Amino acid sequence: MTRPKYVEMASHNIRIIWNYIFTEDTDNCGQIHHEHNRILISKLVQNQKRPETQIATTLFHELLHKASNIFAYENELTENSINAIAELLTQAFVSNPDMGKYFVELAKMENKGGE
Ligand SMILES: [Zn+2]
Repeated sequence: MTRPKYVEMASHNIRIIWNYIFTEDTDNCGQIHHEHNRILISKLVQNQKRPETQIATTLFHELLHKASNIFAYENELTENSINAIAELLTQAFVSNPDMGKYFVELAKMENKGGE
């Protein structure tokens, strides 16, 4: 499975570290460091491997924190809103394979002229 190492969003190039192990006593599976443009994602929770769908949801979750930080800093999304939107976006892609194909084709189209 190919996971992106970076995601560019609103001129921020955000590095994604996929194998981060949180050492704090926490169920935390993801974290974003806005000032360093870095997302940490754990593949484990309580020493158990997490399903890939949960890992993908964590990526959307942290990207939504970034979007909220960039675009709505005076009115940031709540944790509950971010949880709900991240779940729905993951479901939209996982349950509808044509969604992913559409965005892959769109990315190819958009990047053709730019190189
Ligand atoms: Zn969060």
